[in-house]
Amino acid sequence: MKAGLKFDANGNFKIVQFTDLHEGPNSDKGIDLMNKILQYEKPNLVVLSGDSIDGKCQSVGDISKAISHIAEPMEGRKIPWAIIFGNHDDEHKVMSKEEMMKLYMAFDCNISEIGYKTFDRIGNYNFLIQGSKENIPKFNVYMLDSGKYAPTFIGGYDWIKLTQACWYKRTALKLKKKYKSIIPAIMFFHIPLKKFKEAWETGLIDGERHEDECCAKTNLGFFNKLVNTGDVKGVFVGHDHLNNYCAELKGIKLGYAGYTGYGGYGEDDIPRGARVFLINESNPADFKTWLRREGDKELRL
Ligand SMILES: [Zn+2]
Repeated sequence: MKAGLKFDANGNFKIVQFTDLHEGPNSDKGIDLMNKILQYEKPNLVVLSGDSIDGKCQSVGDISKAISHIAEPMEGRKIPWAIIFGNHDDEHKVMSKEEMMKLYMAFDCNISEIGYKTFDRIGNYNFLIQGSKENIPKFNVYMLDSGKYAPTFIGGYDWIKLTQACWYKRTALKLKKKYKSIIPAIMFFHIPLKKFKEAWETGLIDGERHEDECCAKTNLGFFNKLVNTGDVKGVFVGHDHLNNYCAELKGIKLGYAGYTGYGGYGEDDIPRGARVFLINESNPADFKTWLRREGDKELRL
């Protein structure tokens, strides 16, 4: 039985989002950075938003090794953690995403789920965070698989499928009916939405943009669905290693965690790190978020 998630005695809940580790079978500096960040931030939950491993893994053995390195920082500290897939996680073609998901789920503190399956998408799920005093959910976390590449005649990256958007809407409506109120939520997936660019241009909160948003050419109105449904207050992704901004559009924060790993592309002058979220149960819709990155004085202690 996996532990339930709960706001702490001060009414706080902290999430650390790591992303784009691009791990192979040989553990690298990205895992050290995870350890340092967890030591300092002491979160209640860790989210890994895709491209955790890539084609450097070429056998089942390589994949298991890479995943156990990734698991160590959270398992060692007994911090619940959840994953979603990016476009590189199964490029080794050795295991399917569903088989890999089972490897992740076998760890004691991992709370990932295979969840709703549609097309090539595995790991569409959500989990609730209970209030500190009563067993009533105060916050919700959605996890989605944003897929890989669009058909070649369209080009670019794939989009959140209409079936996933409908799964999201159904889940939101079910929760609203059951708890008789809208439960504020945050949503994580790997590939940014087109709307990120508009948010960056009009509603920057923090962080930097060093490359174009590598998004799908269409989003099938997914962002508008989020706005109209009204529960999701933040959408956070990885994928574009050099972008780490957070911006707001129509009351929804759209942001990046940057990149955590050393195994993919990067720039020496753009530090690796994580995005942190601090949610208070008195006003969970208005959560705080910041970047925690290598070279920060807090991590040098
Ligand atoms: Zn990616």
